[in-house]
Amino acid sequence: MLKTASAAIAGTSLLGMEALASNSHAGTSPAKKALIIGAHPDDPETGCGGTMLVLKKAGYEVVSVYMTKGEAGIPGKTHEESSAIRVSEATKASDMLGARPVFMTQIDGSTEINKERYVEMRELIAAEKPDVVFTHWPIDSHADHRVCSSLVYDAWRRLGYNFELYYFEVMSGMQSQLFQPTDYVNISSMANQKREACNCHASQDMEAVYEWHELMERFRGIEFGCKAAEAFIHLQKNKNDLFV
Ligand SMILES: [Zn+2]
Repeated sequence: MLKTASAAIAGTSLLGMEALASNSHAGTSPAKKALIIGAHPDDPETGCGGTMLVLKKAGYEVVSVYMTKGEAGIPGKTHEESSAIRVSEATKASDMLGARPVFMTQIDGSTEINKERYVEMRELIAAEKPDVVFTHWPIDSHADHRVCSSLVYDAWRRLGYNFELYYFEVMSGMQSQLFQPTDYVNISSMANQKREACNCHASQDMEAVYEWHELMERFRGIEFGCKAAEAFIHLQKNKNDLFV
């Protein structure tokens, strides 16, 4: 279970491991790795930017995966113009969160689920060898978010459930729906840093987007008993999956 930032810093378990022990660069074990896979530039940051900072502090290698480059995300701009701006924004935001950005090849607004796309997502995750993956909750009004979630879920089961899978929420009530958290992360001490990273997405009217996410952080904080939190759904491995 994900624990609070303060718990991680105190050296107690994070994702069921001794966070600071796993962080020990004096040891021989490599750092744990977390992939945050979002459909568009700004999804990983708004959905779990605070948790990315917590994981980084706990010694994880953190990778932001963007399934598209936000090609359709700036009115009046061509796909080429928009993707150049949004890749630059996402790269800056990832840098501020201590994450390595990875950009995939799907097109914003026209994402696909087919055999080739399943293979593409599976091969990317297999090559990264993550310990934990965060992605979109599948019940979401944005089709690209649903596609991303389905591709990651399929990769998870076809890779033999060899990483922990957590779903994050974005703009709940407008995009994510029926999101009932199983886990929370206290991001109170990271909220400002998260906000600054999200502000890198200047093309996305982040003022309005963040007004929404600030309410979510506050509400999840009320549920968890802290000032600000991010919430997740941890999906358990399907022990009866006959096809793995
Ligand atoms: Zn999105």
